[in-house]
Amino acid sequence: MIQALLVMLAVGAVCGLILGIAGKKFYVEKDTRVEDIRALLPGLNCGGCGKAGCDAMADALVNEGADINDCRPSKPEVKEKIKEYLAANAK
Ligand code: SF4
Repeated sequence: MIQALLVMLAVGAVCGLILGIAGKKFYVEKDTRVEDIRALLPGLNCGGCGKAGCDAMADALVNEGADINDCRPSKPEVKEKIKEYLAANAK
């Protein structure tokens, strides 16, 4: 009984160690640029930019180089903030 418990503890410790190392080695940093830009957009989902909504526009701004000036509801200071963010976080 004690032997079985010790074997299970050893197997659990080894598996935990392997998973811990794999978690660190294969860690992928999440790209939050689309979410960050989406948070800055007005959120009206009006389609005035030619995209399906603000989510699509945020994705286009980050991944397709869309022009923030296509979003007319955005205030000039917000547009400037988005431009600065994209310039600082280009990949
Ligand atoms: S024009 Fe602006 S507010 Fe309207 S859907 Fe496009 S990003 Fe959103």
